[in-house]
Amino acid sequence: MEAGDFPAAEAAEAAAAPGKTEIAFQSPQHDTIILRLVHPAPAAFFISSITEFCFFSDRLPFVRQSGIMISFIYTSFVNASLLICDKGGIMPLVTSKRMFEAAQSGHYAIGAFNANNMEIIQGIISAAERESSPVILQVSEKSREYTNPVYLIKLVEAAVATSDVPVCLHLDDGPDYETCVACIDSGYTSVMIDGSRLPFEENIALTKKVVDYAHDHGVVVEGGLGDLHGDAESDVPLALTDPNHAVDFVAATGVDSLAVAIGTCYGPYKFKSEPTLAFERLQDMSNQLPGFPLVLHGASSVPKEFVDLNNQYGADINRAQGVPEDMLREAARLGIAKINIETDLNLVMTACIRQFFIEHPDAFDPQKYLGPGRRAIRSMVIHKMRHVLGCSHGGLG
Ligand SMILES: [Zn+2]
Repeated sequence: MEAGDFPAAEAAEAAAAPGKTEIAFQSPQHDTIILRLVHPAPAAFFISSITEFCFFSDRLPFVRQSGIMISFIYTSFVNASLLICDKGGIMPLVTSKRMFEAAQSGHYAIGAFNANNMEIIQGIISAAERESSPVILQVSEKSREYTNPVYLIKLVEAAVATSDVPVCLHLDDGPDYETCVACIDSGYTSVMIDGSRLPFEENIALTKKVVDYAHDHGVVVEGGLGDLHGDAESDVPLALTDPNHAVDFVAATGVDSLAVAIGTCYGPYKFKSEPTLAFERLQDMSNQLPGFPLVLHGASSVPKEFVDLNNQYGADINRAQGVPEDMLREAARLGIAKINIETDLNLVMTACIRQFFIEHPDAFDPQKYLGPGRRAIRSMVIHKMRHVLGCSHGGLG
């Protein structure tokens, strides 16, 4: 479609009609296309967004010519989010490419939440809908094995079919080439290959091999460099990412994003003493890789409120300490485009279920306690999107 084909008259009409947020038109590639404004934005931006969509529509990798199709775009002006869909269509999974572009220009981050069962997936997606925010559902190898890979894919497909937010399905901490290929072949739109424990040259070779396969299949790749999941209990200092290595690694591998080590750890025990992150190092990497999406693993905040709630209802979780939320906001401002969050979801869901059992000792129907657990996940994800990631309503709060 050429830029001139866009329905200027209809767009103007839509813009002129107070409250109208949807227009339909015909295009050569698609049947009826409906453009729907997801959150309020000035009419002028609506028109510019439509123009931009029409101009670039042929180049969007996830636009399909027939059948089920939907796409989305962020305007470069206000990050207003638009959904663009065939009538009655379903949004397919998207890659994180456009999510990261918008996040980088708006100085916010996209949340990558570990999607480990149906209630967690539903809670995350419901929150993303509430906040009109794109979202990354990520799955670790451990969860693939526990759940059975087919079950998780089908759950995510169901989430995508019943919601209208952009969703990227990502392999978290991909351990090897074979797992990455299996995920790419089964429909994931993003994979991480974690070669961070390998010598630098071996990490490059492995990552490049995954990038070659992934890019051939329209899938994006996150690489890893430095000690991404270090042990806070160990006396050996974390190996933080060397900014010069990061530049060389990105150039040599062609990765689409890079997980960097700036002092976070896996799990609920992240710091022995005062939490600190290596912001100067992060700034240095962002300066040397302008506009390139950097990723933070081990970035749960382990809120004391929910540690205490677990302990109040029978848990024994001591010394837990996460990354303070204001530090995560600062990391997003300095070029972190994706923040991984798992521990906080586990903490809040477990606290909620523990409380339910103590308060309802006669209950045994799983729906009775998993339902509140799902609502707790939703509340936590909404909180993260609004107050930590800054991604609600395309970064407009
Ligand atoms: Zn990780």
